[in-house]
Amino acid sequence: KTRIVVKIGSSSLTHANTGKISLSKLERFVRQVADLKNSGKEVIVVTSGAVAVGLSALNLEKKPMELEGKQAVAAVGQASLMMLYQKLFREYNHVAGQLLITKDIVENAKRKQNVVNTFKSLLAYGAIPVVNENDTVATEEIEFGDNDTLSAIVATLVEADLLILLSDIDGLYDKNPNLHEDARIISHVDAIDERVEHMASGSNSSVGTGGMITKILAAKIANESGIDMVISHADTDHVLSRIVHGEDLGTLFKAP
Ligand code: ADP
Repeated sequence: KTRIVVKIGSSSLTHANTGKISLSKLERFVRQVADLKNSGKEVIVVTSGAVAVGLSALNLEKKPMELEGKQAVAAVGQASLMMLYQKLFREYNHVAGQLLITKDIVENAKRKQNVVNTFKSLLAYGAIPVVNENDTVATEEIEFGDNDTLSAIVATLVEADLLILLSDIDGLYDKNPNLHEDARIISHVDAIDERVEHMASGSNSSVGTGGMITKILAAKIANESGIDMVISHADTDHVLSRIVHGEDLGTLFKAP
C-alpha cells in the first residue's frame, strides 16, 4: 500500500486576520485525507494549530511569553484540536489516533521502536495517525522545534512513499516571494545544494520555527531516506489526490 505523510501548517488551518482556527479549512483538509484513505492509501497526518486553538479556547490575544504559559495553551489546544479531528474524521467513517512525540524518541532505540510499532499498528487497524510535537512537555533539549522536521522524521519512521507539506505558499521560490516580486517557483529539485538552501535563507520573520528553511531541511531528511517530498498550497482544489496522481503541483524534491 502507498503510504503518505501529510503535514499541514498553522497558517493553512487558521484565519489570517484573527489567528483562530478555520473550521472550513480543517474540514476541507480532513475530507481530502479521508478520501485518500478511501482510495486505498495509508495516510499519516502531522498537524500544527494546537496553540491557535488553545488561544481562542482560553480567550487570549497572543501566545504567552513564558514556557509554562505556552505549554498550558498547547495542552488546552491539543485536546480541542484533536476533538475536531476526531469529529470530522468520524463524519467520513474514519478514526483518528493521536501521537504526541518529542525528539528523545528518535534518539533512543527502544523508544523509537515503540513509536514505529504504534504507527504500524494504527495503520493495520485502519486508523489515521494524527501527529504533533508534544508541546506540553517539550523543552528545548527534546523538541523538534517545528513540524516540518517532525513530519520528515515521521516519514522515515513509517517508511513512507511520499511526504507532502501543505503550506500557505504553492512551493519553493528562487527567492523570498514576499520581498521579491520577480521571484519564480521551482517545480523540481533534484539535489539540495547550497544554491537551494540559499533560496530559502533568511526567510522567516518569526524567529526559530517554520519558514522555508525548515522545509528544505525536511526535504533533506526525507530524500536521504529515499522519500520524495512535495511542497504545495493547502488551498489548491483537491491538492492531495492531484499530487498523489502525479500532477505537478508545487515543488517536488525528488529522492535520488
Ligand atoms: P507553514 O505554516 O505552512 O509551515 P511558513 O509560514 O512557516 O508555512 O513558511 C512558508 C512561508 O515561507 C511562505 O509563506 C513565504 O512567506 C516564506 N518564504 C520565504 N522564502 C521563501 C521561498 N524562497 N519560497 C517560498 N516561500 C518562502
